[in-house]
Amino acid sequence: MRIIPLLFYLAIFYLIYKFIRSLITNSLKNDENKNHDRRFSRSEAKSDDLIQDPYCKVFFPKNDGYPLKLDGKTFQFCSEKCRDSFYLDNKND
Ligand SMILES: [Zn+2]
Repeated sequence: MRIIPLLFYLAIFYLIYKFIRSLITNSLKNDENKNHDRRFSRSEAKSDDLIQDPYCKVFFPKNDGYPLKLDGKTFQFCSEKCRDSFYLDNKND
């Protein structure tokens, strides 16, 4: 009759192990989602929010941006020069 409690404890430990593993996996997934949401909302953000120029990597207010539509996406640039350079670079690809 000793083997039954042993199996019972093993089952409990296994469930706890699975539970902790799922917690860790979920929290990692949630972090990824949060980061993704933050990145996504940045491009949809209010016009006075800072956005990043994808060409020169400078941050600037979206209000001052120079937009460029490419492949259905809208990019914002800090200057016409960056916009034109980015466009030429991506056109060559
Ligand atoms: Zn720039």
